[in-house]
Amino acid sequence: MTARWRITIGFLAAALLLLAATRIPEIAAEDSMGERAPRYAFAIHGGAGTILKANLSDKKEAAYLAKLAEALAAGEAVLAGGGTALDAVTSAITVMEDSPLFNAGKGAVFTAEGKNEMDSSIMDGATLNAGAVSGVTNVKNPILLARAVMEQSRHVMLQGKGAETFAAEKGLEIVDPEYFHTERRWQQLQKAKEQKTGAVLDHDLEFLDPDGLDDHKFGTVGAVALDREGNLAAGTSTGGMTNKAWGRVGDSPIIGAGTYASNTSCAVSATGAGEYFIRATVARSVCALMEYANLPLDVAADRIIMQQLPEMGGDGGIISLDGNGNIALVFNTEGMYRASVKEGEEPVIGIYKE
Ligand code: ASP
Repeated sequence: MTARWRITIGFLAAALLLLAATRIPEIAAEDSMGERAPRYAFAIHGGAGTILKANLSDKKEAAYLAKLAEALAAGEAVLAGGGTALDAVTSAITVMEDSPLFNAGKGAVFTAEGKNEMDSSIMDGATLNAGAVSGVTNVKNPILLARAVMEQSRHVMLQGKGAETFAAEKGLEIVDPEYFHTERRWQQLQKAKEQKTGAVLDHDLEFLDPDGLDDHKFGTVGAVALDREGNLAAGTSTGGMTNKAWGRVGDSPIIGAGTYASNTSCAVSATGAGEYFIRATVARSVCALMEYANLPLDVAADRIIMQQLPEMGGDGGIISLDGNGNIALVFNTEGMYRASVKEGEEPVIGIYKE
């Protein structure tokens, strides 16, 4: 072979390699239907429950829609700018924690002792690292504390005073517990006490409060994200149940129950009657059905939320997404505050059953 031929063949081989390299991501981004998967996808929830149009004034409805849009936009901005799924999750949840509309951060419900004790968790689908906190009373944004536990400690879960000491050591914003006091939640506690109900979920306040407090719901918040690198993340934050006693902890800070993310399957954040979600390991079960039984996301989500949970007597919902950017927002209640967006598509925001 002449030197000239060798150069030509070498050039052709290099060109072919270059072509293949530039096409690989495109091929990888196609799902089984041959459609190009979105490069990022994002979803949030602000709780599920008996959320009926009749119970929500136009003004309140507009306030919820606006806050959901703001939280969604905060997370989407991170992903559109090439940021991580974890950053998108924390930025959206922080917006909702700072709003009194939701049962998380400011707006958290009261315990039987008249305190606000918050739970939160986060999981990184790329590494399966996770962080969680429960029973914190003075950390402005519990989701940021959960993330600090994941990234700056050797542990997965911290609770109570220890979690608060850790938060202060890591320089997180500490507030007077009074910051979390809202009149609306205080009145709900008084109502629950008057009626001697024991611990109640927001959802059950329907029966306590026929006069129109529009809180017949679980007000927990959560987010799930797929970033441009193909990584998944999930996070959840809550005040738990009104009138809860004895250091009750729900599903929200339990990895596998209220929150789960794995790049091999999906990312899930839950809201609902926590005791059932713990017993059904809801978030992990959805991902396990994808991983071990090869079910598509929507089928897996339906199996757990529309079949298994109701059979056990549990109600609530989840937001979930997979590595192809498929999104499943599933709930067996009257409504779920929710919003989602994919790259190149308009955001979708909803409250009631379709
Ligand atoms: N899952 C939460 C809990 O049981 C309640 C909620 O979703 O609002 O603590």
